[in-house]
Amino acid sequence: MRAIVIGSGVIGTSVAYELAKAGAKVSVLEQGRVASGASAVSFAWTNANGKRPREYHALNVAGMRAYIDLAREFEGAGWFNQTGSFEWWTTEAAQAKQLAGVKLEQEWGYGVDFISRDRVAAMEPDLDVRAIGEAPIVYYPEEGWIDPVLYAACLLRSACERWGAQVYTGTQVKSLETRSGRVSGVRTAAGERFEADIVVNCAGGASKESLGEIPGIPMKSSIGVLAFTQPVAMTLRRQFHADDLDVRPDGAGRLMLHKISVDDQLSEPKLLRPDGIEATTILNAARELLPALEAVSIEAVRTTVRPIPGDGLTCAGPMPQVDGYYVGVTHSGVTIAPQMARLLADEIVHGNIREELAMFRPARFFGGAPGSVVPKSAVAGPSHD
Ligand SMILES: Cc1cc2nc3c(=O)[nH]c(=O)nc-3n(C[C@H](O)[C@H](O)[C@H](O)COP(=O)(O)OP(=O)(O)OC[C@H]3O[C@@H](n4cnc5c(N)ncnc54)[C@H](O)[C@@H]3O)c2cc1C
Repeated sequence: MRAIVIGSGVIGTSVAYELAKAGAKVSVLEQGRVASGASAVSFAWTNANGKRPREYHALNVAGMRAYIDLAREFEGAGWFNQTGSFEWWTTEAAQAKQLAGVKLEQEWGYGVDFISRDRVAAMEPDLDVRAIGEAPIVYYPEEGWIDPVLYAACLLRSACERWGAQVYTGTQVKSLETRSGRVSGVRTAAGERFEADIVVNCAGGASKESLGEIPGIPMKSSIGVLAFTQPVAMTLRRQFHADDLDVRPDGAGRLMLHKISVDDQLSEPKLLRPDGIEATTILNAARELLPALEAVSIEAVRTTVRPIPGDGLTCAGPMPQVDGYYVGVTHSGVTIAPQMARLLADEIVHGNIREELAMFRPARFFGGAPGSVVPKSAVAGPSHD
């Protein structure tokens, strides 16, 4: 089976890896550099907390656990940081919602519990717990974060070296080619043709674009802004999420900072200055909790499109218009990528229709029932050719 994967973000590289591992002959076509889209500007927190409905929560949990398996597969995987995370809210309404969420997620078997301020202070001495006030603090020991660009590089290299996958950067796919209602390949912007039995579109925010006559996925993507500090002499290991602020280590002493209210001010990605109002707003919020940031500056600010399907949920599986054409796009894509990839590869290569994806089918955007998939007979069988 010859498979083309469009896009090399966390989703595309995960799908390419799992397809190649399952026996497909994989070509990845990427219009820019490997993992240069949203995956390069992601907080990349692996979590299922607050994610609803239950099926979506479960997909996220499965993604988190898939990373544990992958980290074993890639001994010493430098891209995997499962250090846990803290969360607190300062308004009564948010605290009530948090309490209900904790109870429900404990029932669902998710790793979550309240933790004392003293314990947090002992675990993270750089955090000024007095600034948290009386807010209850929740600890999620199973959560962590990924370095998505390293992850993508690692998986692609492995897919190429172990199973002969090919990667074509600077190669933009413009249209799908079909024969008798089935995918036969793609045509690039440069006019080149790549033949394939299966095409999986993992184009992130660009999933909304049509490929020739095949429509894209309706999206409600938003803009994300991340600020990166200079290296700072502190030992913070765990990320924390406090009202409108997310903070985590980003290697070599740098911190990654995010404030959703700053995202909300932008309607498109743009170059932001490290000493601009957005960066200063984010840094000042972080300084209230981390006194060591007092004399530290922001070194870089990055913005990107955060891919989000139109109803906010994952979109993964066969497109209804053409046999052999699949899509994989989602919010929380870092968390979900390895699990989505396993499920899609199992469906595509082995023909096993996976119930875990039943409510996330692309057909729901085109008038089909949420669980619509192509008949099993239309799925190509396994082969190494
Ligand atoms: C600020 C921010 C914070 C986030 N925080 C988290 C978080 O904490 N946890 C979490 O799980 N998720 C988080 N996300 C979401 C997550 O980062 C994304 O869901 C994920 O990176 C999407 O990966 P992707 O592979 O679908 O898209 P991308 O990384 O954008 O990759 C798509 C690739 O396709 C290529 N492409 C597009 N069109 C074509 C074409 N026609 N031909 C060839 N190539 C093409 C692009 O160049 C790109 O490289 C966050 C996102 C942002 C922006």
